[in-house]
Amino acid sequence: MRRLLATALLPYAKLRNALSPGLRILMYHRVARLPAYDQLTVSPERFERQMQQLAAHKVVSLEEGLRTLRAGPLREPMFAVTFDDGYLDNLTAAAPILERHRIPATIFVTTQFCDKALSHPRYGDIGEQRLHLDWDEVRRLARTPGISIGSHTRTHPYLPTISDSLAQQEIELSRAEIAAQIQAPVPFFCYPSGDLGPRELALVRQAGYAAAVSVAPGVNHANADLFQLRRTEITDRDDEAQFRLKLAGAFDPIHQLLHARRTRRFAQKHLKPSTSYEATKL
Ligand SMILES: [Zn+2]
Repeated sequence: MRRLLATALLPYAKLRNALSPGLRILMYHRVARLPAYDQLTVSPERFERQMQQLAAHKVVSLEEGLRTLRAGPLREPMFAVTFDDGYLDNLTAAAPILERHRIPATIFVTTQFCDKALSHPRYGDIGEQRLHLDWDEVRRLARTPGISIGSHTRTHPYLPTISDSLAQQEIELSRAEIAAQIQAPVPFFCYPSGDLGPRELALVRQAGYAAAVSVAPGVNHANADLFQLRRTEITDRDDEAQFRLKLAGAFDPIHQLLHARRTRRFAQKHLKPSTSYEATKL
C-alpha cells in the first residue's frame, strides 16, 4: 500500500528534486544476516546492492554535506550514509562494501557500548557473539579513509526524560571521550531514538558539535536546522525499486505523517511517570 502510494508520488518527488535538490542522509543500524526480519538490520547482500545503486549518485561525507548546505542552495541531489549504535558488523560487514563502492559514512557510537559496560537493549544477550564495536575497532574505523565517528551519547538514554545534568553529561562527555579515544575531533551528534526537545538542541550546540541528526524523515535543504537534520531509514525490505523510491523522496510525505503520529504518541507517554526507555523504542 505504502509502496503504491510512493510510486504514485514519484513524479512529484522527481520534480521537487530537480527544482530544489537537497542532501538526503540515509540511516542504517546493522548489516547482518539474521534469522527473522528486523527493522534495524539489512543483510550484507541487500546492503551491497543498495550501495551499488547509491554509487550512481553523488555521495558525500556528512562533513562535505554540511559544508555544501552552509554554502547555499544545492545544484544536484546529494546523499550521505550514517550508522547508529556502533555495531561490530559495521566494521566486519559494512566497511568492506562501503570501501568497494567508495562510499563515505559516519558511524555514531555510544561510549558505554564500546566500553562493553552496556549493550543495545533491543538485541539483549546474544551469547558469545559481541554486538558492539570496542575502542580498538572504533579507532580502526576512524583511520579508514571515508569513515568518520560521531557521538550517540554514553548510555543511549531517552534524552528528554533525564535530568539536566545527566543530559549534559550524555551529550558533552561522550564527545570528549570519543575524541580522546580516536584522537580526532567529533563534529556530529545523533539523538538516541531521534528524540529531542529544546533542551537537547541547546545542549548539543553548547557542547560544540557542528551538526546533529534526528530520525525525522525527509531531505535537507540550505535552510535546514543543522542540529536536527532529517534522515531516511533504509531497511532490508528496500529492494531495487523501493530503494529508488526512497532515494527520490517519494516516501517522504508518507513517512512524515507516520513520524508526526509517533512523535505525538511519545509526547503522550512521556507525560506518564512510568515511561521507560524500552517502551519508547521503535
Ligand atoms: Zn540508537
